Amino acid sequence: MLRLTGIHKDFNGNPVLKGIDIAVEKGDVVVILGPSGSGKTTLLRCINFLEQASSGEMIFDDLRLQLNKVSATDKRNVRKKTAFVFQNYNLFNNKTALENVTEGLIIGRGVPKNQAIEIGKAMLDRVGLSDRYQYYPSQLSGGQQQRVGIARALAVQPEVILFDEPTASLDPELVGDVLEVMKNMAREGMTMIVATHEMQFAREVANHVIFMEGGNIIEEGPPEQIFFKPKVERTKSFLSRIL
Ligand code: ADP
Repeated sequence: MLRLTGIHKDFNGNPVLKGIDIAVEKGDVVVILGPSGSGKTTLLRCINFLEQASSGEMIFDDLRLQLNKVSATDKRNVRKKTAFVFQNYNLFNNKTALENVTEGLIIGRGVPKNQAIEIGKAMLDRVGLSDRYQYYPSQLSGGQQQRVGIARALAVQPEVILFDEPTASLDPELVGDVLEVMKNMAREGMTMIVATHEMQFAREVANHVIFMEGGNIIEEGPPEQIFFKPKVERTKSFLSRIL
């Protein structure tokens, strides 16, 4: 469904991604692990053009793009197929939970307001927030805000959802609810690429794990390999520190 080849990204001549190749099939849950600064966020942001890769190729269904020269139309087409869940939720503070979910549908996709409200309520129900439609972000816990962020991502029916350390800003007791929602999405067949430090989630839910360091993929494979029989010394030492 989605293949990235030879992705490079420099910031002011400083290489941050050094030739990343990834292939994602429909229904995959790909987890990206790696120390802080390894390029996980940048990679996710390059997939939906929050950042522009310096070079590389993307094949997304029938689209084939050279990433150093992507037209506005192609960017729009890729963005329609993706949704992004941010570490810090990125909600509008002056809008209710429901309005945060419907905004992108109404403004971004031209869905009529009544229909957007129906979809928005259904998505908030799905993430366990059926009693919070009219709450503002400041009236919600971090875990609830992140679930609004996930409902917003689901609402646009993307082909793939990109999660950038979705639980990293949460108090430990709030992490479980968000991971539970993500597990349900995975069970229902949602295609997901998730940068996270949640090893339990990666072990249980991922079908492919990528370990990155210094802008390179050091090792990748099924969770059984990465967690129990890593082939590369760097993967072993990273995991032994984090587990
Ligand atoms: P990770 O998500 O693995 O922590 P990031 O992708 O956030 O890693 O960062 C990778 C490297 O790119 C870091 O060295 C970071 O400082 C650098 N970087 C990220 N964003 C920018 C930016 N907008 N401008 C300059 N450098 C950046």
